[in-house]
Amino acid sequence: MKKQYCDVFVSGGGLAGLMTSLALADKSRKVICCDLNWDFSTEITDFPQDQRVTALFNNSLEFLKTLLSLKTLLSTSGKRLSEIEVLEAGANGDIKQVSTFSSKSVSKSEFGWVIANRNLRSALLAEVRRSPYINLLPKVGVAKVFTRAREAHIILSNGGRIVAKLLVGADGKNSQVRNSLQINTRNISLPQAGISFNIRHKKPLGQKSIEIYQSGGPFTIIPLPGEDEYCSNIIWMDKTEKIDKYYNLEAKKLAIEAGKRSQGAVGEMELISSPMKWTGNYQMAKKLYHERAVLIAEAAHNLPPLGAQGLNLTVSDIKLLLEFITLAEDPGDIQILTNFASKRFFPVLLKFIGTNFLNLLSFSNLVPLRTLRSKGASLFSSNNEFQRLLIQFGLNEELF
Ligand SMILES: Cc1cc2nc3c(=O)[nH]c(=O)nc-3n(C[C@H](O)[C@H](O)[C@H](O)COP(=O)(O)OP(=O)(O)OC[C@H]3O[C@@H](n4cnc5c(N)ncnc54)[C@H](O)[C@@H]3O)c2cc1C
Repeated sequence: MKKQYCDVFVSGGGLAGLMTSLALADKSRKVICCDLNWDFSTEITDFPQDQRVTALFNNSLEFLKTLLSLKTLLSTSGKRLSEIEVLEAGANGDIKQVSTFSSKSVSKSEFGWVIANRNLRSALLAEVRRSPYINLLPKVGVAKVFTRAREAHIILSNGGRIVAKLLVGADGKNSQVRNSLQINTRNISLPQAGISFNIRHKKPLGQKSIEIYQSGGPFTIIPLPGEDEYCSNIIWMDKTEKIDKYYNLEAKKLAIEAGKRSQGAVGEMELISSPMKWTGNYQMAKKLYHERAVLIAEAAHNLPPLGAQGLNLTVSDIKLLLEFITLAEDPGDIQILTNFASKRFFPVLLKFIGTNFLNLLSFSNLVPLRTLRSKGASLFSSNNEFQRLLIQFGLNEELF
């Protein structure tokens, strides 16, 4: 098989890989993007199990606007998110405290928009297909990587070989690029798991998301994109044995359990998608770069799904990478990559520690940790300045 040459090779065609390909391709830069599992068709049947939605904050949307026509995507398949309600439930499940965060408190009409991953993926793919500078390799993965001072050599799962000035690892939490370059990870693991599914419910939710804290983990209700105010996505985290039990329940029984756990926040529920499950293993790469290679997105940081941080953090990775690369003639110049990694490492580490700490607080049944959680929520909701700082930290905005 003939060797192919490119400026940037992106491993992984998920949301992160597609955004990176679009951001880095232009007439002076040729990009190749591969995906081990996806044939890059947009048939819904490709992802019957991926009913996930993502809340993208205003900062991320500003960047996405430079890559695709967001206006159409948001008006046809988005939902404004302008309020977050945090409920603290006592040991018996009774609601003890309600804290409400409104986008008005930071003078914004919304925090961001909720978009279905599937629709975002399709919109990104349409733009990628339009670009003459991006070549897609469907159902082909990275098998092995070795690097030299001037280039990265990529061996593909079909035996093909690529030579690139820069290799971007956007191939998810089990990144083969990361493994092949022998970059280790910091791991945080709790006996916790999660399920996510879509529901139809009796009470309207509007533009609000609700997080209910008890022990075991948060139970989050996120409005589904579109006009309908009676459909939502649930992210439910709890002890592994409980999640395993819920996951195996038939739809009607799972809806009853979810209704109980939600304290009736949105009334009676009915499942409208099958549940998807994941485990409570979270990790961050110990290094974000290597000679001729960088790691981004879940290949670099896999966080608990709390406070809608994951993909928003990824957008910040891509924005910064683009900033550095735009200034350089050679996108894989070691100086560019070290500058990128040193500027990116601590903000990512801070989010990694922050979300895992919040997750531990929500998981724990220990009285001091429960008290800390409830005192924290009360402090942030009763003090305007603390509330503003918390919201801006969550939204990845400059604090001062
Ligand atoms: C329940 C849940 C809710 C979430 N909600 C939010 C939210 O509201 N807001 C937010 O910002 N984030 C959220 N996140 C996080 C967000 O969904 C992820 O950060 C994002 O989808 C990950 O994108 P990715 O492209 O890094 O990884 P993936 O989507 O996993 O893509 C990686 C791709 O790499 C491919 N691949 C794997 N191995 C190889 C290989 N060897 N070679 C080539 N390709 C390969 C895979 O096929 C896959 O397509 C949530 C996560 C979960 C679990």
